[in-house]
Parts: sequence; structure tokens; C-alpha cells
Amino acid sequence: MRILISNDDGITAPGISALVTAVRGLGEVTVVAPDSPQSASAHAISIHEPLTARRIRLEGAGGFEGIAVSGRPADCVRLAVRNLMPQRPNLVLSGINAGANVGVNVFYSGTVAAAAEGALCGIPAVAFSAEAPAAGRTEIDFAAAGRECRRVLEMLLAEGLGPRELINVNVPGSAAEGPRQIRLAEQSDADVEDKYILQSGSDGLESYRLGDVYSFCSPAERSDVALLAAGFVTVTPLRTDLTDHGRMELLLRLEGR
Ligand code: MN
Repeated sequence: MRILISNDDGITAPGISALVTAVRGLGEVTVVAPDSPQSASAHAISIHEPLTARRIRLEGAGGFEGIAVSGRPADCVRLAVRNLMPQRPNLVLSGINAGANVGVNVFYSGTVAAAAEGALCGIPAVAFSAEAPAAGRTEIDFAAAGRECRRVLEMLLAEGLGPRELINVNVPGSAAEGPRQIRLAEQSDADVEDKYILQSGSDGLESYRLGDVYSFCSPAERSDVALLAAGFVTVTPLRTDLTDHGRMELLLRLEGR
């Protein structure tokens, strides 16, 4: 199996070497990732700037080679599949992101976008994110998160991942204490409550900075937000077809008017 690994935190982020370690033995791994942090870049691609690709040696995971690209996560996967890899990968993996990607954050996530790009290229893809630990601890335990990612990935591969399949996996912060149970979860689209903080500069210009505090408004019980908060490893199959098929059916009567 040929595995392409990317991320949005950048090629030197600890999460990507944790993922390289986690998949060891499953196949031949190629790492192509942004040369700088690209969190919340969603599915952006670079259309005006050329993409530089630089082969570099990385120290994590006992040392591995990767290609650092001066672009967005989706650029990395596109470029890898179309140009950099002599043969198409059979599997695209993204992560492990530092921080959860559940609920509406799936839309902003560069981690999910890198995997989604793989799916759009017709390749099965899985995004992995690790929830920040609860207050009191500071660092994400990427080794523990990696073990959970490996466990989930092995199960998904045993079930069989088809072309264009896109799976979003989130590991709870409590995984540092030991393996957590897996739950299939629907993506929450519950609102997020957050605030922009007004900073008036000496030049008189209003500027706004996104505050650090945000909370999800009453997510559904079966949702990724609620189940991750309850300490489960959440597995969410996503679609690359955003069509609301039910609504489309109802609006069909407008056709031909
Ligand atoms: Mn990130």
C-alpha cells in the first residue's frame, strides 16, 4: 500500500511524525506537507503563486524524509498526487492535528481539507485530530493519540475503504490515560459562540482579533462534538458531495419554469 501523509500544522509539527510512527509497517509512506503552519486554511489552493517543493530530512519518528511545499494543505495533496509521487497513493492520511476538528470546525479545518482533497482525487482518505487535553495539562500526548489512530485505521482498513471515502477521526485528550472507546458520530452543525475582541489602534482604526474562548451551542447527542467531549474516539464518515438531496427533491417542481 502506498500512503500519502499530509497535515495543516506544517511538516515539522510533532503530529505528523506521530502519524508516520503510527502507520509504520502498513505501507510505503510519502510525506508531503506545508512548509509553515496552515491551520484554518480550509480547502484553499494557491492559484497565483508557484509552489516550491523542497526535499528535507526530518528528525521525528526516528528520522524520515518529506517534501515541504510552500502552499496550503490541499495544494500539498494535489501536487503529490498529480506530480510528486511516481505512482498514485492508495490511501491519503492527514494529521495528527493539534486540536480537535469536530462540528462546524470541519469547514475551517486544513487537516480535513487535505484528506478531502485525497477523496476528491478518488483516493480513500482519513483525517486525524487530537483534542487538546483538559485544563491542568498543557501538551497533547501525540504518542497516545497515534496509538488510537493506528487502532482506528486498522479497523477501517479491515472494513475496506473505497475510493472517494472520507473519514474524520478525533481522539479525545483523555486518550493520554489509556485507550478510549470508539463511537460513530454525526458531524454537528450546531452554532459556535465566540467573540472578536475590539482593539483600537493609535491610528484610530478598528481592528478585531478572534478571542480564544468559544463553545458549541447544544450539540446533538450523537454528534462528534458531544461524543468527543464525553471522552470517545469519534469516527465520522463525511461526504464530498454537499448537495442537499432531500431539498433538491422538493425543489424539483421549479424545474422548467
Ligand atoms: Mn492545525
